[in-house]
Amino acid sequence: MRGHLFDDTAMSDLDTLRTRALQAAQQAYAPYSRLRVGAALRSTAGQVYTGCNVENASYTLGNCAERAAIAAAVQAEGAGFRLAAIAVTAFDSAGDVLPISPCGGCRQALVEFGEDATVSFRQPDAQWLEVTAGALLPHRFSFPER
Ligand SMILES: [Zn+2]
Repeated sequence: MRGHLFDDTAMSDLDTLRTRALQAAQQAYAPYSRLRVGAALRSTAGQVYTGCNVENASYTLGNCAERAAIAAAVQAEGAGFRLAAIAVTAFDSAGDVLPISPCGGCRQALVEFGEDATVSFRQPDAQWLEVTAGALLPHRFSFPER
């Protein structure tokens, strides 16, 4: 299936994820914020999984694109899933791409599966930034060891 709808053989790894993230954003359910967010990640096993934001009339029930992609990856690969890289992008109701970065909750979710994973998202000047998941969330929560 992969490579059938999206021929990514000529694109770099991150370019592929960026393209897939934009495609995922088009599927978003965002009637309240009208901010469509898409995420595409590559697992260390080499597979690509995508997610989009899904809002709700009860605002706090909304789900982020990044965690939707992680859920898809865990569903497919099980507890052994590890994150290699993820791209996140968003556009508004006018179709303009907006700079966003993963929210705090998603940063915690990203480091859970790949502290050294590459996270790519757009800056206000529209350029893509690449940082590690660990760098995005210093002093993160970790389960206390006894
Ligand atoms: Zn989030």
